[in-house]
Parts: sequence; C-alpha cells; structure tokens
Amino acid sequence: MAKLSKLYAHEILDSRADPTVEVVAILDSGEYGVASVPSGTSTGSYEAVELRDNDPARYLGRGVLTAVGHVNSEIASALVGKEIQSVNDIDAQLVKLDGTPEKKRLGANAILGVSMAITKALASLAKIPLYKYIANIAGNDQILFIPSPIFNMINGGSHGAGNLDFQEFHVIPNKFHSFAASLETGVVIYQTIKKLLARRGAIHSVGYEGGFAPNLFTNLDALEILQESITETGHKPGIDVELGLDVAANAFYKDGRYSIKDRSSPMDSAEFIDYLRDLNGQYHLRLLEDALAEDDWKAWVSLSAELATVTTIVGDDLLATNLTKVKKAITDRACSGAIIKPNQIGSVSETIEFTKLVRSANWKIVASHRSGETNDTFIADFAVGIGADYAKFGAPARGERVAKYNRLLSIETELAQK
Ligand code: PEP
Ligand code: MG
Repeated sequence: MAKLSKLYAHEILDSRADPTVEVVAILDSGEYGVASVPSGTSTGSYEAVELRDNDPARYLGRGVLTAVGHVNSEIASALVGKEIQSVNDIDAQLVKLDGTPEKKRLGANAILGVSMAITKALASLAKIPLYKYIANIAGNDQILFIPSPIFNMINGGSHGAGNLDFQEFHVIPNKFHSFAASLETGVVIYQTIKKLLARRGAIHSVGYEGGFAPNLFTNLDALEILQESITETGHKPGIDVELGLDVAANAFYKDGRYSIKDRSSPMDSAEFIDYLRDLNGQYHLRLLEDALAEDDWKAWVSLSAELATVTTIVGDDLLATNLTKVKKAITDRACSGAIIKPNQIGSVSETIEFTKLVRSANWKIVASHRSGETNDTFIADFAVGIGADYAKFGAPARGERVAKYNRLLSIETELAQK
C-alpha cells in the first residue's frame, strides 16, 4: 500500500479558453498521476457544482482559483501523509469532507481532479494501464474492447455558430472490423462534409467539439448533408454508417413548448414527439440524445415507449450522471441509454457506481467528453475500462478531441499484443 506524499493543483486552460483545474498526486513510492477536469457548456441543472471564482477581475469571472485552493489546502491536509486504501475510499473521504450533495463547497472540479489524479497514480503503482486498473475497480471481468466511436460532425445549439437548434449531428460507423477502420471512415466522412459544405457556400467555422458549424437553413439540412457525405464515401447510410443526434432540447424549450427553425410555430411535447417520430422514420437514428427537456419527464416516458424499440433513447442532461435520477429513469423506463460524464457527478467511483446501475438495466452506455476539454485522455481509458458501448469524443479533429481517439488507437494496438 502507498501513502500520498504530495497533492497539489493549479489553473490551466481548456479548449474554450476557460480556466480549469489540473491536479498532481504523488505517492511515496514515486509513482504519480496528473489529471485535468473537463467542463460543459450546455450543462444540465442537476450536475454537481463546478466552482468558478466569479471574480470579474480575472478571466471574466471564469477563474478556478477557489477550487485550486481547496485542493492545495483542505483536501491536501486531509489526505497527504495517509495510506491510500482504494479510489473508493479516497472518494468517500472527499464526499464527506465536502459535505453537500452537489459538491458545492469544495467544488466538483476540485474533487474530480483529485479523484482522477489518484486513480492514475494507483494504476502506475499497480504497473498496469489505466484502462485495466479501471476495469478492475469497476469489477469488469469481460474481455476488453474499444467502444464504437460517435463522431460529432456538425455542431449547433450552444456549441455552434447560432443557426442550428440541435447541438450535435452524429456519424456512427457500424460493422467495421476495428476501431482504426471506424476512425478512418469517420475521418474520410469528415473531410467529405467539409467539401460538400464548401460547395454549398455553407461552411462557416468549426464549433466547440471540432465539428462544422455551418450556415444551413434547417436542422434537417444538416442530416441531409451527413447522409450525402456517407453515400459519397461509398458507404450505405443506415447500414455501414448510421446517424445520431444530441438534440440538447433544454436550449429551445420554453414554457412547455419546443421552438425550432424547421417549424413556424412552437410545438408542445406531444407535437414534438410526433416530429421526432417522423424524423426517426426518415433517418433511422442509432441514438437520440436529450430529445426532450430535462424536466419534461412524462414526455420522456412517452418517447421511450414509442421509440426505444427502434433507436436508443439516451439521457444526458436528463440524468446528469446522477444516481437518484437514473434510478427513477430505470423504474419509469424514461430512456434506454445513458451518457456518462465523470464531472457531472464529481468522482471516479461514483461514476462507476452510476455505470453499474445503467448496465443493470441493460441500457446502452455512452462515455462522453465535455465541450470544454484538455488533452487529458482519462475518459478514453475510462470508456474501455467500464466496457462502454460508445465513446463520444467529438469530431475526429482538434487536438483535445483527437488526443482521446488516438488513445483508443493505442489501447487497441496494446490489446492486440499477445
Ligand atoms: C453534451 O451535451 O453531450 C456535451 C458533450 O456538451 P456539454 O459538454 O456542453 O454539456
Ligand atoms: Mg448531450
């Protein structure tokens, strides 16, 4: 067993030019772990609290020196010099020290940074790769595999340039013999989308997750472009390569109605479900994430009753990686898949606990990055370790997204070694 000999944090930047927390945990054996915390833009209201300084004199209020200070003082005082029993034990101590259900005193960004850094240090101490260490602590004794990638090719909503309502338009390669082959397919489709958008004069810029943020008239135009690009690359849409959506419906839900540019008047929940049914009939989505607002619970139950047999109804903001929410969603059959984001709950072992609940319901598991990312690849190892069905790490472009897909390539090569 090892003792924690040093623990410290500092502020670094994420991919949106926002500060975030990086933590270093050093064991008395010399092994260490360094981890940085991602951050969402379209955050759900039930997520654990990310502490921001709100000091307008620094980084427009977005600084995280308070969270950093909590690691360097209170958390370090509680943990340094003590033996580490397990990640579980460390996380339990952190949760107790914080003392609030939503981690708002010390900050989920402080707590998760410590939890991830110590997990990495313990994997080094065990002399095994991080994904194997996570598989061990998650009790995953299945054969490890690389999850199917979900590429976010077109960015709208709060991640894009402001003219598409839906947040993410996904391309999901199907039936490829390896992750490397799926990644290559994703890249060729990404480059083809760029060409098609340029041809239409619609290319605008890229959004937060490296997907294009084009100037299109409707949300369905974006799905059309994806289908066209799949066909143009020689694949069959819906068979070789499927489509998916993260609607992130919270963003356009107001007073019980959904307003999108494809329709001249706002729709109530029943009308919006009709719209989604038609859309799915046309595009045969593999996954449909956050198709409804997080508090439109009854509508989620209706949507799942109608569509869960033909597509996976995924909860992100709806569930917020929150144990109480997912238990209720399982009982009510509100979805059939869950997004897993460690910073929504704020520690590694609680994220694993959430994952186990999702698995027990036979739902699909989507391990996900955030729109604000660093080059930390923890989530790639985590996705493999927990046996996630899917890895949603953005477009196959921009350093902080590619770092995670590249990590999956490395793990795939490593798993193939005899
Ligand atoms: C998402 O909504 O799935 C997402 C990754 O975005 P964000 O990190 O902004 O919540
Ligand atoms: Mg989402």
